[in-house]
Amino acid sequence: VYILAVETSCDETSVSIVRDGQEILANVVSSQIETHQRFGGVVPEVASRKHVESITWILAEALEKAGLRPDQLSAVAVTQGPGLVGSLLVGMVAAKAFACAMELPLIGVHHIAGHIYANQLVHQLKYPLMALVVSGGHTELVFVESEGRFRIIGQTRDDAAGEAYDKVARALKLPYPGGPHIDRLAHEATEAVTLPRAWLEPDSYDFSFSGLKSAVLAVLNQAGMKGIALEPSAVARGFQDSVIDVLVEKSLRAVEAFGAKQLLLAGGVAANKGLRARLEARCAEAGVPLLAPPLSLCTDNAAMIAAAAFLKYRRGQFAPFDMKAEPLLKLEAWSV
Ligand code: ATP
Ligand code: MG
Ligand code: FE
Repeated sequence: VYILAVETSCDETSVSIVRDGQEILANVVSSQIETHQRFGGVVPEVASRKHVESITWILAEALEKAGLRPDQLSAVAVTQGPGLVGSLLVGMVAAKAFACAMELPLIGVHHIAGHIYANQLVHQLKYPLMALVVSGGHTELVFVESEGRFRIIGQTRDDAAGEAYDKVARALKLPYPGGPHIDRLAHEATEAVTLPRAWLEPDSYDFSFSGLKSAVLAVLNQAGMKGIALEPSAVARGFQDSVIDVLVEKSLRAVEAFGAKQLLLAGGVAANKGLRARLEARCAEAGVPLLAPPLSLCTDNAAMIAAAAFLKYRRGQFAPFDMKAEPLLKLEAWSV
């Protein structure tokens, strides 16, 4: 089974071809980071326009890299949501046009299911499992009882982890996206600023990062007013330590409470070296297998969309050609 997938939910234009939900034949990703960097974040209208400009040649390049003719494909998958509506629409229209012209069935995919199933491209999944999803727009603990059946047991009440990284990076005058820069600074740090941890209620799996972000801004302001030179690396380290402490402890508590056989890491912030190292150590201690995608499959790509689409393909769950882009699509509703 060869699935061609299209992903345009945010600022990456990507087309991939994956065999049997596991083997990547082509994964072409075109990032718009340079375009958006001077604005300090993604500008939706600019993102849509860029997707329009690049989707056709990226689709052609993916087919060429995979060495396949369109008539050898089994289905066309596309990210249905969540994401920026203008960006989603470009991928949706491109996927429908291609599927229609080639007479292929269409599959709509939830973007976060894609991030989770990126792990299937490199690992053997065992259910039930717990997934920690940490991305630019989401921070969730997702219990996956069996293949493709999702239950969100905890989520952020305000900012997503990636969003907090990007906002703190901005305050430290680092380029967009800030996650990788904070990660690097935190590693170079010789000291750490003390910052709060948002544990919330003792039994809660929810997260909160806006208080931490405000605390960072307050520390920077106070240092500025007193004329104290604060090492950016000490701020980065203090911030990263706080984020990691909460993510790691809640994830391990969830794994135990739900009897999960594996802990999966997913989403752009899963590329964070500090988070990966701490999770590896704690999972080894607890005897829980930790699965994470390689860095290139943590951030947005269409290979993960093809991997998730395979679940629906096997069940014959195809989408109608009047499928709509859903900027607020719910993960649980997408369950097989
Ligand atoms: P969503 O998937 O929720 O719709 P998105 O697709 O914009 O959001 P991703 O592409 O999954 O998000 O991840 C991008 C985020 O990951 C950015 O906020 C970026 O700063 C963050 N990120 C990338 N690398 C790292 C890193 N090494 N450490 C921390 N954060 C990182
Ligand atoms: Mg992105
Ligand atoms: Fe994403």
